[in-house]
Amino acid sequence: MAIATVNPADNTTLKEFDGFTDEHVDDCISSAHTAYDNWRSMNVGERAKFLARAGELMIERTDKFASLMTTEMGKLIGEAKGEVALAASILKYYADNGEKMIADETISVDEGSAIVRTTSIGALLGVMPWNFPLYQVVRFVGPNLLLGNTVLIKHASICPQSAQALEDLFRDAGAPVGVYTNLFVSGTKISRIIDNPQIRGVSLTGSEGAGASVGEQAGKRLKKSVLELGGSDPFIVLDDGDDFDRLIEAAVTGRMANTGQSCVASKRFFVGTATYDRFVTELSEALAKLQPGDPADENTTLGPLSSEQAAQDLDELVKDAVDKGATAVTGGSRIDRPGAYIEATVLTGVTGKMRAFSEELFGPVAVVYAVDSVDEAVELSNASPYGLGATVYSRDNNAAEAVADRLDTGGRSPIVGPPCSRATV
Ligand code: NDP
Repeated sequence: MAIATVNPADNTTLKEFDGFTDEHVDDCISSAHTAYDNWRSMNVGERAKFLARAGELMIERTDKFASLMTTEMGKLIGEAKGEVALAASILKYYADNGEKMIADETISVDEGSAIVRTTSIGALLGVMPWNFPLYQVVRFVGPNLLLGNTVLIKHASICPQSAQALEDLFRDAGAPVGVYTNLFVSGTKISRIIDNPQIRGVSLTGSEGAGASVGEQAGKRLKKSVLELGGSDPFIVLDDGDDFDRLIEAAVTGRMANTGQSCVASKRFFVGTATYDRFVTELSEALAKLQPGDPADENTTLGPLSSEQAAQDLDELVKDAVDKGATAVTGGSRIDRPGAYIEATVLTGVTGKMRAFSEELFGPVAVVYAVDSVDEAVELSNASPYGLGATVYSRDNNAAEAVADRLDTGGRSPIVGPPCSRATV
């Protein structure tokens, strides 16, 4: 894949970068390995100060980072500024709390003494996606640099300038050579990097295909790996929480944040037959109001997808469903303008023979199912190969939690608050 900035708002190529040669990559790994000894020997408080400085610099560079993300992957400028603030707050969080988090833990034993100590392991490879170009990198880099590991980052090929700006940031915050290194390489070069004995572990966020490849290679070399992959989260409506507007607002936010390109976005909505028609109508009306345009314009509410390829892939999924009998209540097509745009879409009547039933819709497309019972909602929610998160919406938190307990999903964090409750798992 070419390493290049292609603005998805009009599909023009703005800047191209040469990939690193294998020799250059090996030098970078060697430098990260060498830097590790000094970095881990430093007092953790010094590493915490470095992270704090990086967070401050990030805030100072808000406009630059936000504008780069908007140009490279089409994020709405307001959301891009929000992401800068979030990423900076993560660096500050580890600067403020990291030392406590990795402090020795004494455990009681019958004889002698014992402690649990959290230690670094060496140079790590981070393979990062384009959907949150800062946040995804920082949540890997923050804890690892604090702990004393050094990092090499292979960012998505479509956001090279964001990748470069991050390396500049950490260098300007005082990172010694080799502590944070940007690698311009394509995904196909990753296996070779994992094979290098000086790489001690790898973390990837992205598609299942990329995750399987990295997991396999790390397994072969008996190296630690962390994979964060796709999702097709259900949003189960138990009742309207006595405020239908708020329910629709939650559904729109859950589906549309980052133009729908989030692993934990709500992608499949399950609604009881009593409320289904109203839910479909009001969700469709809300999505139809979104204004497509230049993501750099604060007034735009529907940006492009990250790339022309992403828009074509999603369009094919929608077309497959409609061709096989689904209804696009709103949207359903590409937007007639240059760029990687696709209409905000509500699909109903999706069945198991359509790709949209089982594949992830990574963009502004909501699938709404009518269900006769909570049991049916749970069964359909669980009829998915994905299992990242879920939302259960109700005025009754206990009822929402009871349903959440039956869902085959990952992390669990109930969100409670009057007048209605959302249990998010
Ligand atoms: P990819 O998995 O292709 O890209 C993510 C990262 O992995 C990029 O840095 C990419 O490099 C790299 N990569 C790609 N193939 C390999 C490989 N074989 N070995 C090692 N690294 C590889 O994601 P897509 O851009 O194709 O996004 C499509 C899907 O990925 C989405 O539908 C979603 O499911 C998932 N995704 C999930 C995210 C999350 O937050 N969990 C974020 C983004 C995507 P390069 O750019 O050079 O190809």
